[in-house]
Amino acid sequence: MSRANVIDIGYLIAAILFILGLKGLGRPRTAPRGNLMGATGMLIAVLVTLFDQSILSYQLLTIGLCVGVGIGALLAIRVQMTSMPELVALFNGFGGGASVLVAASSFIEVTELGQSDSQTAVAAAITSLIGAMTLSGSMIAFGKLQGKLTWNGFRGLPIIRALAFLVSVALAIQIGGFQPEGQLSLWLLIAAGFLLGILCAVPIGGADMPVVIALLNSLSGIAASTAGFVLDNSLLIIAGSLVGASGLVLTQIMCKAMNRSLLDVLFGAAPVASSSGDDIYGDKVTSTSAEEIAMLLEISERVIIVPGYGMAVAQAQHAVRELMQTLQKREIEVSFGIHPVAGRMPGHMNVLLAEAEIDYEHLLDMDQVNPTFKRADVTIVIGANDVVNPAARNDPDSPIAGMPILDVDDSRTVIVVKRSLSPGFAGIDNPLFVADNTLLYFSDAREGILEVTKSLTES
Ligand code: NDP
Repeated sequence: MSRANVIDIGYLIAAILFILGLKGLGRPRTAPRGNLMGATGMLIAVLVTLFDQSILSYQLLTIGLCVGVGIGALLAIRVQMTSMPELVALFNGFGGGASVLVAASSFIEVTELGQSDSQTAVAAAITSLIGAMTLSGSMIAFGKLQGKLTWNGFRGLPIIRALAFLVSVALAIQIGGFQPEGQLSLWLLIAAGFLLGILCAVPIGGADMPVVIALLNSLSGIAASTAGFVLDNSLLIIAGSLVGASGLVLTQIMCKAMNRSLLDVLFGAAPVASSSGDDIYGDKVTSTSAEEIAMLLEISERVIIVPGYGMAVAQAQHAVRELMQTLQKREIEVSFGIHPVAGRMPGHMNVLLAEAEIDYEHLLDMDQVNPTFKRADVTIVIGANDVVNPAARNDPDSPIAGMPILDVDDSRTVIVVKRSLSPGFAGIDNPLFVADNTLLYFSDAREGILEVTKSLTES
């Protein structure tokens, strides 16, 4: 069998494993197997690609591998679990940046050889534009998720954005047409794409961020796929398309979860943060203690737990499992209400609860759990804020108006565990804190839940 045949068969097996792996990731129970399949596919893809002797020398590859492994390992070791979403945003950007480098180097090679290869030219133009946008957009998303970047743009931003878009399209057409000055146009296109990424990501903020993260993930896949056309590599085209398509599906799910159209998110006004909750609700909330909560739970038949970003910050998932087991020992029914954008990355709560070995059968998504709040004696909101904010439902002027929320206020009693009256990620005050049936338990989520479990055990 020829070398080319071995490479083709290897790529085919890898592509099948990617598709089956992706299918497996669709359900929590089959996800570990899906993950393994995807990783095996990637291993086969890398080994088969190394078998192709027309690629770079093995010395250069080894140097690249060592640098990449070094940076990746350093970031992975240093990152806190709560910073994972930022890291994922950055990795999306690196993917886009890598595609730009591939496209630019192939384009330079072809033009230096004086060849007129329209597939390379068109694919290089598209890859450079999308890849550069992904890189700069992801860097902005990284800053916003870290809370260090609060800039939402300036007055004339939409005009400059439209101009940058028109210039990009003109440059892309020129590159595709293989003009002699193609290389200069490519560098200008990369710069315009970089600017466009910044101008598109900067105005987005608040509760809309999940949509941006999902979209950037999709763009990084599309850039990889078009880079596959530059290199004429079928596996890169397939793998990139799978990432691009699944990212688009996720973007659609996130838009639905926010009740926003993609155009609204990309071109609508940025949400305006309001004043601190302490100023508005300071003397109107009813606070409670671990002992009081334990007494309420003792006489409950049905309890719903709603986790949010604060559970991730406090790493409270194991304490939450202990509380669940203590309640179950008393034959109290416990379920979890999971909002699709709770936390800081898609599936954030599911990952944390799975890590604490809480069975998926207890996890109900928004549509399943909402009708059940009316039958709940107590709902414990642990470090969640925006996803339970009734302003989204009741206040048409709220920046998150129309976003579907978990209707925790339908329960008989709501206990909110958080450290202060500070707003959540969207920066919006939460009238749930002063509802008649709400009790505030001011505490770190982990410490507070451990205290409640202790009181419950001792009672
Ligand atoms: P929020 O960000 O709305 O609220 C989190 C709350 O947790 C805060 O009010 C904070 O209050 C509390 N908290 C923080 N640390 C602790 C702690 N150690 N112990 C107890 N409480 C703590 O979280 P939600 O999950 O409700 O909403 C997610 C938000 O993030 C949405 O706006 C969503 O759009 C956005 N987002 C989501 C992404 C995703 O993909 N899921 C991606 C990007 C953004 P306090 O400081 O008073 O303790």
